[in-house]
Amino acid sequence: MGSQPLSFLNKNNIIHLKIFIVLFLGFIPDKTNLCSNVLSATLTVPPRLNTRSSLSSLETLGLDGYFSFDNNHHAAKDFGNIYHFLPAAVLHPKSVTDISTTIRHVFEMGSASELTVAARGHAHSLQGQAQAHQGIVINMESLQGQEMRIHAGEMPYVEVSGGELWINILHETLKHGLAPKSWTDYLHLTVGGTLSNAGISGQAFWHGPQINNVYQLEVVTGKGEVVTCSDKQDADLFYAVLGGLGQFGIITQARISLGPAPKMVKWIRVLYSKFSVFSHDQEHLISTENSFDYIEGFVIINKTGLLNNWRSSFSPKDPLQANEFSSDGRTLYCLEMVKYFNPDETKTANQVRLV
Ligand SMILES: Cc1cc2nc3c(=O)[nH]c(=O)nc-3n(C[C@H](O)[C@H](O)[C@H](O)COP(=O)(O)OP(=O)(O)OC[C@H]3O[C@@H](n4cnc5c(N)ncnc54)[C@H](O)[C@@H]3O)c2cc1C
Repeated sequence: MGSQPLSFLNKNNIIHLKIFIVLFLGFIPDKTNLCSNVLSATLTVPPRLNTRSSLSSLETLGLDGYFSFDNNHHAAKDFGNIYHFLPAAVLHPKSVTDISTTIRHVFEMGSASELTVAARGHAHSLQGQAQAHQGIVINMESLQGQEMRIHAGEMPYVEVSGGELWINILHETLKHGLAPKSWTDYLHLTVGGTLSNAGISGQAFWHGPQINNVYQLEVVTGKGEVVTCSDKQDADLFYAVLGGLGQFGIITQARISLGPAPKMVKWIRVLYSKFSVFSHDQEHLISTENSFDYIEGFVIINKTGLLNNWRSSFSPKDPLQANEFSSDGRTLYCLEMVKYFNPDETKTANQVRLV
């Protein structure tokens, strides 16, 4: 396992390329897993003769955590519910050493062991990306209990385990008046899981996706080495792992950039019936300085009751405006925007002229 030099692309291009690859790969009904030393497709796998003897050797490793060899059906499921690959073993690590010891052991057995390895965060993948057919799934959430370390100062950051949920990071950093700058919409996802993809939401137009807001990673490589990497140290590994779909190493710790947490927010959602008007407004807002702190656009199918359940930009009781959005099953467009402000700025926040 390893990464090619990426020097012909600058950092931003790499991130854009990775976002494209993530979106593109999301539609490919195939999967690969982190293997001992090569990438391997695991869709067509006959019963493995070598697996049993390889597995019994795992029991001799003397870990802080443990392996489970039975009742592992939960590890053959994910949010997509399309693929169900039963692993031969699930590692519940209690330390980073558990992960490095296991991977080094699999690496030293060589490809003849036929064991593949996949990290599993919160399993919100759609296509079995966090599964390993007859291989080893590493349950990253077992590492969650490890203490988060928050560093305030000029460039504040938090150091967290790769198995930590973003929702827990939010609660912890808020105690210090701080918060990560870039988010996903849904927060019950792990740090390792979203940093292996991109982590995109309404702050990405300004701060970049989550993979753009990481100072340093601790990674277990395919040889079982524990490497600390950043844009200055082992940069190839750093940029390969970020958005690397779990193929270049396992993220065991991340140093994530923080900023001041907003004290108050004004949240606005606007519905559009015409795509051209919607996209024009969105482009205008993301290219206007000091407009909003969060801008996200999405497409929705109008369902019965939509207008009654939404706090939208017009009153559903206004017959003229409501009529435009009343057709069930029609495609509508929504722009969601947020402005951060302090309590003493309430008046001015309401008066900001944006379009
Ligand atoms: C309801 C829902 C809402 C979502 N919203 C957003 C959103 O707003 N923005 C967005 O960008 N995405 C969103 N996603 C997609 C989500 O970011 C990805 O599916 C992400 O991978 C999920 O994280 P997870 O912890 O569940 O990872 P998993 O599904 O467990 O793993 C995903 C991939 O990362 C690998 N992996 C997991 N942990 C590690 C680790 N520690 N080190 C290395 N590799 C690892 C796995 O092997 C697998 O390949 C959403 C998904 C769902 C289901």
